[in-house]
Amino acid sequence: MKAQDTCELFFDNVKVPKENLLGEEGLGFKIMMAELPRERLTVAINAIGGAEGAIENTIEYTSTRTAFKKPIAGFQNTQFKLAECATQLQIHQAFVDRCTRLLSQNQLTAESASMAKFSATDMHGKVVDECLQLFGGYGYMWEYPIAVMYADNRVAVIYAGTNEIMKVLIARGLYKELFDNIRAMKKQ
Ligand SMILES: Cc1cc2nc3c(=O)[nH]c(=O)nc-3n(C[C@H](O)[C@H](O)[C@H](O)COP(=O)(O)OP(=O)(O)OC[C@H]3O[C@@H](n4cnc5c(N)ncnc54)[C@H](O)[C@@H]3O)c2cc1C
Repeated sequence: MKAQDTCELFFDNVKVPKENLLGEEGLGFKIMMAELPRERLTVAINAIGGAEGAIENTIEYTSTRTAFKKPIAGFQNTQFKLAECATQLQIHQAFVDRCTRLLSQNQLTAESASMAKFSATDMHGKVVDECLQLFGGYGYMWEYPIAVMYADNRVAVIYAGTNEIMKVLIARGLYKELFDNIRAMKKQ
């Protein structure tokens, strides 16, 4: 990511002293799984902030850049594109706010967190893409924040569980009884 350093870490033959144990031995995966809805909601919240920033940046740019002797903002296409982006942002903000409230009440389900993550990051990607287009050639230059936003945002539909996996989890909730039966049959 342009804004964040990433590297591969190896923990070969690392011994952790007993007193440094977090949680209970053998339950690490279970504890980590219980925290996934919170992580996914955090990614959704980032997406909301990112989309908002992209829209603000684009309003500023299109108000000053001129083509054919008028600001880019003066073209109806620009206004309609930004109207669509702002609407999508508001719709997703409302759902993510609801999920945040549920999390604070310990009631956020894996399905709702997955819906928030996949839908908000998809929306963010589309908004940044539409905004970048309004910058024309400058949208492709690293000097312009919208280009960095475009590159950085791409990972959001991959990490914290890909958006395809989010849909798998949502569908699992929709067909809960069926999946429970299949699991029970496999155990027999
Ligand atoms: C910058 C960055 C930071 C990261 N940070 C962390 C971190 O802090 N902690 C951490 O644990 N991980 C982290 N990851 C890993 C990230 O969560 C994984 O890359 C992600 O979950 C996808 O797994 P994968 O790369 O193994 O892809 P794969 O599982 O190989 O998936 C490849 C493709 O197949 C699709 N696919 C796989 N299974 C299914 C299925 N059942 N149904 C439909 N489609 C499917 C996927 O959606 C994807 O499109 C990070 C990754 C990146 C790039």
